[in-house]
Amino acid sequence: MRKYIILVFTLACFYTTAMAQRYEKMHSSAVVVDTHNDFLSASIVKNVSFDQSLKGVTHSDLQRMKEGGLDVQVFSIFCDEQYGKGTAFSYANREIDSLNAIVARNPSAMSMVTNPQQLQKALKEKKFAAMMGVEGGHMIEDNIAYLDSFYRRGVRYMTLTWNNSTSWASSAMDETLHADSLPHKGLNDFGKQVVRRMNELGMIVDISHVGEQTFYDALALSTKPVIASHSCAWTLNHVFRNLKDDQIRAIGKNNGVIQLNFFSGFVDSNFFKRSDAFMAAHKSEWDSLKTAHNSDFVADMLLFEKYAAEVNSLRPPLSMLLDHLDYIVKMIGVDHVGLGSDFDGINSAPKELDDVTSMPVITRELLKRGYKKKDIRKILGGNFIRVFKANSAS
Ligand SMILES: [Zn+2]
Repeated sequence: MRKYIILVFTLACFYTTAMAQRYEKMHSSAVVVDTHNDFLSASIVKNVSFDQSLKGVTHSDLQRMKEGGLDVQVFSIFCDEQYGKGTAFSYANREIDSLNAIVARNPSAMSMVTNPQQLQKALKEKKFAAMMGVEGGHMIEDNIAYLDSFYRRGVRYMTLTWNNSTSWASSAMDETLHADSLPHKGLNDFGKQVVRRMNELGMIVDISHVGEQTFYDALALSTKPVIASHSCAWTLNHVFRNLKDDQIRAIGKNNGVIQLNFFSGFVDSNFFKRSDAFMAAHKSEWDSLKTAHNSDFVADMLLFEKYAAEVNSLRPPLSMLLDHLDYIVKMIGVDHVGLGSDFDGINSAPKELDDVTSMPVITRELLKRGYKKKDIRKILGGNFIRVFKANSAS
């Protein structure tokens, strides 16, 4: 009996080690793409630099991206709705400047990529490829020349809206919560001009954050595949900016790709109940932090750091993120899903997804769920690269 137990234990250890080697090998040999990371905005608030070691401070830095097996990162160029005419475009350009400076400081480790040929070259040279997406149409300040300028500077996707609507496109937040006060729903004539111009330029149309009317207007118009750079499935969690089943089917038909967001609140339908209870329990402390620092962001950050163990217990299991992936794959197939973490733009992700170094656990879970190697390669990066190529072609 004892011998038998030892044999079973040895086999179990052998299997676990073999499994670990298998997923790590699979992950490092695949081209891994993440289409949404907010490091550039986080670095301004936290006053840190990408080429420093920032473990415990941010979700990402250059060294940890490499440790996580990330080959391509689309950095989000972002400012919120406080920035408008006269300020949003220049703010976005400063973020582009700072990414260019990071790349210039690390020429042997990374390179900026603006077309599929450059991407192939970077992969061949084993350099980390940086790309850029503008998160929010308000940054073009109602001016097509600014859209062209973003393209010339290397931006390869634009999210038509962030949470705020523009004068030409309504957001998911406004269509859902403030429909009565919207001057129009969907894309107006200028909005349609923007989408056409993006197709002409070869800038991918990103429909994360947009309202359903804007979504359907953009898909009716776009001659090229679109992306949702960081979104999940609404049926599994009724958050206004998750994608409904008909939207998921429409992206499948368009040959686009849905890149899954890791935010606990988009993944798990009970997360906000738990996090609201946490915030209520610590409200007076949060209020005094907010008064002292005059910033919601800093108040959140300090509170979360102080109660790290409690905050950790609020996180959903990793399996819930994979459930969104399975759900989309079952509906439209394995060619239309990928990863758009939103790291450094979110304050909670499912357990085990602690920062960019955790990316291999996704490959482990995909293998466990029975996905074939070639399909895992598509999910990790191949699907986005297909859409990038289709948009770059004239
Ligand atoms: Zn976002």
